[in-house]
Amino acid sequence: MLKFFNTLSRELEEFVPLDDNKVRVYICGPTVWNFAHIGNFRTFIFGDLLHRYLLYKGFDVTYVMNLTDVDDRIISESARRGIGIGEMTAPYVVAFDEDMSALNCMAPDVEPRATEHIAEMTDIISKLLERGMAYESEGSIYFRISAFPDYGKLSKISFEGNIEGGSERIDTDKYEKEDARDFALWKLVSDENATGWDAPFGRGRPGWHIECSAMSMKYLGETFDIHAGGVDLQFPHHENEIAQSEGATGRPFAKYWLHGEFLKIENEKMAKSLGNDFTFRDIRDRGFSPLAIRYLLLSVPYRKQLNFTFEGLNGAASAVERLHQFRRLVTASQVSEDKGTGIEKTAANALAEFEAALDDDLNTSQALAAIHNLVREVNSRMSDGALSEEERQDVLEALKKFDSVLGIFGEEQQEILDEEIEALIAAREEARLNRDFAKADDIRDRLADVGIILEDTKDGVRWKRK
Ligand code: AMP
Ligand code: ZN
Repeated sequence: MLKFFNTLSRELEEFVPLDDNKVRVYICGPTVWNFAHIGNFRTFIFGDLLHRYLLYKGFDVTYVMNLTDVDDRIISESARRGIGIGEMTAPYVVAFDEDMSALNCMAPDVEPRATEHIAEMTDIISKLLERGMAYESEGSIYFRISAFPDYGKLSKISFEGNIEGGSERIDTDKYEKEDARDFALWKLVSDENATGWDAPFGRGRPGWHIECSAMSMKYLGETFDIHAGGVDLQFPHHENEIAQSEGATGRPFAKYWLHGEFLKIENEKMAKSLGNDFTFRDIRDRGFSPLAIRYLLLSVPYRKQLNFTFEGLNGAASAVERLHQFRRLVTASQVSEDKGTGIEKTAANALAEFEAALDDDLNTSQALAAIHNLVREVNSRMSDGALSEEERQDVLEALKKFDSVLGIFGEEQQEILDEEIEALIAAREEARLNRDFAKADDIRDRLADVGIILEDTKDGVRWKRK
């Protein structure tokens, strides 16, 4: 039974889709004003894991991740540079998609951009105005929190006693609001040359929260299954998304809320001022493979804080290399004629453990343990004698299933090392000398499976990669 910890109830709940086998998921994407850092990617890889595991379980998934391509930072930076916001964000959108694909994240079904959904945002704002849940003040539009009694149901923050600014989170300098908690849906833009859009309630630009309500409901419907994001977004972003969406539709918004914990660097908060806000590119440029970074980010369950260290990353790189080497070894291993025993059951058990771990709120560290156990047992079996063809297929099939969720193995081809190829060619030569042509052909076929072509010449065997 698949269970998720739902921030809304603060409980581990059985996951039951709203509509039969369909699962609709929204995750808050990046603000594309810079290269994303590895903390951001921890959250997006958690989203990718969720996406892949739902597919693995056989659900028909629609996965949406937005791009925030307008906000105050983007507007002021593009104004400073004298370019449009689209020109300013374009290279970071390309970089983000490249980084996600290097980190082996599946592309979302939809990757909507805020600037392309202004009409959907102004529609929601108009509805809120009609329903008395929003008001205009000095040209801007605010959400009226007092009109939404459920406010606070996600973050469980009590607002008693701090309505007029007891909490540092609350923006008390905006005196034009009826209530300090009220937040902007639409910000007046009076300068004709500044970034803004026309709306029935005047020229302006959207607040950040309204974007996600507009884009999630457009692609997933007014009520959908899962809303995910980093833990810092619980309040105020997600609380405000619920208020705006439910306020406008009168219907429940997302059923399950999943929040990924933060990545820390060497036990410190990531911050520009500390010089430890590594982008994915910074780390890759130090020679680490993206798959090692992905492995490290997946190695701790998403609801636990993860402390990034270079020592940990080296460990992840070795673990990934061990797994890749194992797959190469099994792929290219010689097979015994005997029908083997035991491995089929070992592989089935490992898959069952893997699935039980991920069913338990995506416990990736247990899931990885199940894989490493399988590797250990198969290695020890192989040191006692070759696997049968069926056993080899069982192990490879299990690895394929693991990897459909974790995505840490990468491409199968081109991974086989030169010395492994040479060893197999030598084994083939020996088989030929013994006139065991079936075995020699089998080795040739298996090398072909991993993209290695053999050429018999008068000077011996040459090989090349396909
Ligand atoms: P942003 O680009 O600032 O809008 O953030 C994109 C996503 O990254 C959000 O879901 C944040 O919660 C998440 N995020 C930001 N910093 C970290 C961090 N240090 N660890 C994990 N996730 C983070
Ligand atoms: Zn969002």
